[in-house]
Amino acid sequence: MDFNEIWSKAKEELEKTVPMCGMWIGPLKPVEFDGNVLRLVTAHALAPQIIKTQHDAKVREALKNACGHEVSYNIVYDEEFAEKYKQEKRKELSKQVPGQTKEDKMLINQAQMQSSANLNLKYKFSNFVVGENNRMAHAIAFTVAQNPAKKYNPLFIYGASGLGKTHLMQAIGHYIIFNKPNLKVKYIKTEDYFNELIKNLQSSGNDKTKRMDKFRQKYRNIDVLLIDDIQFLESKTFTMEEIFHTFDSLHNNNKQIVITSDRLPKDIPTLPDRLRTRFEMGIMVDITPPDFETRVAILKNLADTAGVKAEFEVFEYIAKNFVNNVRELEGAFNKVSAYADVEKVDLTLDYAKKVLNCEASKKDITISDVAKAVGEYYGVSVADFLSSARNQRVSSARHIAVFMARELTQKSFEAIAEYFRKKHTTMLYSYEKIKKEMSTDKELENEIREIRRMIEK
Ligand code: ADP
Ligand code: MG
Repeated sequence: MDFNEIWSKAKEELEKTVPMCGMWIGPLKPVEFDGNVLRLVTAHALAPQIIKTQHDAKVREALKNACGHEVSYNIVYDEEFAEKYKQEKRKELSKQVPGQTKEDKMLINQAQMQSSANLNLKYKFSNFVVGENNRMAHAIAFTVAQNPAKKYNPLFIYGASGLGKTHLMQAIGHYIIFNKPNLKVKYIKTEDYFNELIKNLQSSGNDKTKRMDKFRQKYRNIDVLLIDDIQFLESKTFTMEEIFHTFDSLHNNNKQIVITSDRLPKDIPTLPDRLRTRFEMGIMVDITPPDFETRVAILKNLADTAGVKAEFEVFEYIAKNFVNNVRELEGAFNKVSAYADVEKVDLTLDYAKKVLNCEASKKDITISDVAKAVGEYYGVSVADFLSSARNQRVSSARHIAVFMARELTQKSFEAIAEYFRKKHTTMLYSYEKIKKEMSTDKELENEIREIRRMIEK
């Protein structure tokens, strides 16, 4: 029997046994069967996790009945397939065959709204790992999602690249589409907005007026506007002007606006005051790089979602080597899991080390390496760090050394306290202080980056 046949038989049974079958089982497609394991891809990012935790027994039973013997299965989320699946659903929707089930209609309707809102299925709250670095941003984003245009308007989320701004912003969009389907949500990258605007401006004469009217209507006729990477506006005067009017029109009509940026409005030099004050009039919240525990949790979540099994040490190893950027952290994990999948081997620590080869480029950093480098940079001796000297220069360099020791070595605060011959709580205080300062002080952030480069050289 070929896998399509097996699956269609199993699916028939699952339609009767699994609640919301259209939602979880529907977007599955078999891709390979070796006699013992059926491999499937899904268009729904959460399906691997939901099926494994809630419907595993039913799926096994249905496969056993379809095949006549025990069969295991493996589900992976596939972005390309998800895109195709969405397109097909859209086509089906335009035909609207009578007799569709309620779930099918709901799924199609939602898929259509997600796609017209321009949202990526992966970026939902359920997939967002909360840590100290994003706790406040997450809480506020969730409040906005629950009460659009009631509290915090606009919401301005800022932080360096790859830390989850787009994810969090789109999560708001998904939540609103799911819970308040009558609200119109739109996500747009500032760069795409700019390109669309330019295209309309380039048309000529009467046509131009018509097209600009349509363009303006499109963005002013929205209940929740999500504008990503607003720092792109820097020096795009005309686009600023257009955004300014869109902003006012939406805000005055009590519509929710969410903005992201890699920095605060005041740090976008060419942003005119009238836009800056508008961006600042709601709430501004930052996301900083995740700490070690959060990085491990993000990797674990990623593996669970994709249904990938890995030794726990693999997560720790990757989390230790990819520190500043969640996108790179995920990239590293996706690489090792793809390699392991192709080579059909277990994802062990040794295998991850072999593929990523971080050891070759990164040495094991010790607390003493960090203390020396920070001392050298600020002209303070290591002996001063270990002494009880409290003068400003020594203290502030020591705070930085403690922060960097924690970030770069992943040693416990106890171990760091022992090295610096201070109290554990003092170390915690230094760490939190620098972490907080770094989020608003670009200069400090740059200094720390430079010192880090020195250490890792
Ligand atoms: P940014 O917009 O800040 O550059 P993104 O939102 O694109 O960053 O995030 C980069 C990648 O990291 C995405 O794949 C995103 O899903 C993932 N990511 C970031 N933060 C988290 C988190 N807290 N939990 C889960 N995934 C995250
Ligand atoms: Mg982004």
